[in-house]
Amino acid sequence: MSESIETKQSKGIDEKFCSECGKIIKIKAEICPKCGVRQRNNERVSKTALLLLTFFLGGFGAHKFYLGKNWQGFFYLIFCWTWIPGLIALIEFIIYAFTSSEVLQEKYTVKGGAGVVIAVVVGGFGIIALIGILAAIAIPQFVAYKNRAYQVATESELQVLATAEENYFLQHGQYSSDLQAMNFTETSPEITIEIISADNTCYEAVGTHQQLQESITIDCNSY
Ligand SMILES: [Zn+2]
Repeated sequence: MSESIETKQSKGIDEKFCSECGKIIKIKAEICPKCGVRQRNNERVSKTALLLLTFFLGGFGAHKFYLGKNWQGFFYLIFCWTWIPGLIALIEFIIYAFTSSEVLQEKYTVKGGAGVVIAVVVGGFGIIALIGILAAIAIPQFVAYKNRAYQVATESELQVLATAEENYFLQHGQYSSDLQAMNFTETSPEITIEIISADNTCYEAVGTHQQLQESITIDCNSY
């Protein structure tokens, strides 16, 4: 009954292929009985480790280093910034996830412990680099966003002052340099309003926000 299976050259669960001649030998064999060459100390692929490395660090080729495919890993690493290796790794993750541990172990070997170490180190540096790149993009944008908010707040304060100046002008025929006389109170403690000049033709005022380098100047024609 089992004849059809036996005719095909298949290795049992306690067997492996010789790293030198490729013949089927016992998995525990340190030296191949067929060719006499000492076996490389290969470890069994851990499906969990492979899935974790592929999912989290696959874009940096960590899973390739883990499987001892260092050249492939190297290409993943140098092109990681294109996001293409990450995309391929995601597809590989799905393939690995739907492949049984036995098939993975038959297909791949881990070359000693070095592959895992390289994979983790590469992944670690990759993640640090990625965080650095994201921070380099995000931080200036955040600063610009905050500065814009301070600027808008200062402008709105100056607009209130402009209205107060116009009201004062209607009543007194001239602009004022006295904030209290115009019933103007600053709404934000971070914003300072200073009137530089005021007469019966025009006024000029400066708004300064504590968090901003530059002040905003307005005059009677601004609003
Ligand atoms: Zn051999």
